[in-house]
Order: sequence, then structure tokens, then C-alpha cells
Amino acid sequence: MYEFDYHRPTSLDDAASRLGDADAKLVAGGMTLIPTLKLRLAKPSQLVDLGALPQLKGITEDGDAVVIGAMTRHVEVNRSSVVKRAIPALAALAGMIGDPAVRNRGTIGGSISNNDPAADYPAAIVALNATVRTNKREIAADQFFTGLFETALQPGEIVTAVRFPKVAQANYQKFRNPASRYAIVGVFVAKTPAGVRVAVTGAGACVFRVPAMETALARSFTPDAIKDIAIPDADLNSDIHASAEYRAHLVTVMARRAVAACA
Ligand SMILES: Cc1cc2nc3c(=O)[nH]c(=O)nc-3n(C[C@H](O)[C@H](O)[C@H](O)COP(=O)(O)OP(=O)(O)OC[C@H]3O[C@@H](n4cnc5c(N)ncnc54)[C@H](O)[C@@H]3O)c2cc1C
Repeated sequence: MYEFDYHRPTSLDDAASRLGDADAKLVAGGMTLIPTLKLRLAKPSQLVDLGALPQLKGITEDGDAVVIGAMTRHVEVNRSSVVKRAIPALAALAGMIGDPAVRNRGTIGGSISNNDPAADYPAAIVALNATVRTNKREIAADQFFTGLFETALQPGEIVTAVRFPKVAQANYQKFRNPASRYAIVGVFVAKTPAGVRVAVTGAGACVFRVPAMETALARSFTPDAIKDIAIPDADLNSDIHASAEYRAHLVTVMARRAVAACA
């Protein structure tokens, strides 16, 4: 690793001001960032550790929503009695991330800021129509994930929490890579008050919705309603793990399983 200055601010304002240096990087659980530094894929001169900011941690109920602090670890979401009761599919998803070491260090804020194309949380955030809170504003799920490892976050912006509307009828199905445990394809289906939402991760450069499935499921919330809906494979990922054609096939299979599990 290269040399860098390490800061551990105790206020959000201090953390934000440290980001004034264009060469500064936030560190949450370090699950992605530290290997990136070790491999010399990034060379920040300043590391700003969010670990001493208690206001970024924890899970609270807020009326018809659950608010999860950015520094909340996957294991805490998985085990939370609040999340299990209000949005059981979200607790289950957190339990499918990586392995115990990853779940004990990785955070929801780090995961969504990194926006790995195969990460699990983006599918939940988009399907559940969540809102990402930062130190500057609120960003709707549909606007947050903008591309491969890209988000709507501006320089100096820190994710502080994610607000999830409570949705009881939802399910996430993941076809995982047996080595990394990342999603080859993951599909989150949610029946929200505003309609059915279907979000796919792992298949493309970034999480995406499937409007044709959402319309069909709004008419009939059954696996058979989407059995003939095929996803075009032209823009899907193709690698040593799965071809684009296979991923397209998996989207329909996983979506049908998710709808069946909702019932
Ligand atoms: C072996 C392995 C297996 C994994 N398997 C899965 C899997 O199956 N599914 C899955 O979804 N994920 C998986 N992950 C990713 C993991 O879940 C972590 O969430 C992810 O690596 C981010 O790590 P982190 O939270 O420690 O953030 P860090 O690594 O500390 O940070 C990641 C990036 O986000 C930025 N950042 C961090 N916090 C904030 C914030 N609050 N605001 C703005 N920017 C911020 C950092 O500057 C950095 O660029 C895996 C990781 C590993 C190493």
C-alpha cells in the first residue's frame, strides 16, 4: 500500500470537511476499499474513517418506514428484529451477502456507494423504492444507481442512511457465484402500495427494473404471469461465470421464484 494520512472524525461535518481534498477517500468496513488499496488500484492521500460516528449506525422504525444507518453492518440488518418484522425479505437478503467475515465488516453505506454490479442491496433499494439520505440531500432509489460502480453521489457527499418503506410482500432470489457469493443474477420483487416493482442485480452493468414484469404482476401476482417474459440479452454481462443469454434466462427464473415465495 502507499502512504496516506488516516483520519477518524467524530462529527459528520468534520468528516465532510476532510473530503474537501479531492484525493480523500471514505472508509466504512474496508471490505472493498482495503483490497483496492492493496492492489494499488487507488491511491488516496487521505483516508477518512466513518467508524467513530454513532449517528451513522443502527436501525430505527420511523412510522411506515425502517431507517438503516450507513455504517450498519450486514449482520446487523440480517439479525434485526425490526427488519425481520417489517421487511423480512431485506433481513434475508443481508444474510445472503458474502460470508460471515464480509457480513461482520461490510456496511450498507459502503455497499451502495461502491455499487458493484453484482451487489445485493441495490436490488432491494430499487424494488422497495427506498430513499438514500446523504449529508446534503435525499436521493430516490431510481436516481441513485447510475452505472457500473457509479452513483448519483457528488464529491464530498456522504451516505448517512437508507429509508425503506415497510413492505411485507417481497422476496429476493439470488443465483450466487459459489466462490465469491456475489449474485450472478439476483431478483428482488416487491408488492408496494405504489405498485409492483421488480429489480435485477448481477445481470447488467447496474441494477435495473423490468417494467414488462411489473405490469404483468400488477394484473396477476402469480409466477405464471411472467413465465413468457424474456429479457433481451444484448446489454447483459457475459463472463467466465455465465453468458449473457444464460443470465437473461436466470432473470425470468429468479423472478418467478421470488413471486412464488411472496405467496
Ligand atoms: C469476499 C467478498 C465477498 C462479497 N460478497 C458479496 C455479496 O455476495 N453480495 C454483496 O452485495 N456484496 C458482497 N461483498 C461486498 C461487501 O458486501 C461490502 O459491502 C462491500 O465490499 C463494501 O464494503 P464496505 O461496506 O466495507 O465499504 P468500504 O470498502 O469501506 O467502502 C467502499 C466504497 O464506498 C465508499 N463509502 C463507504 N461508505 C460510504 C458512505 N457512507 N458514503 C459515501 N461513500 C462511502 C468508500 O469510499 C469506498 O469507495 C463481498 C465482499 C467481499 C470482500
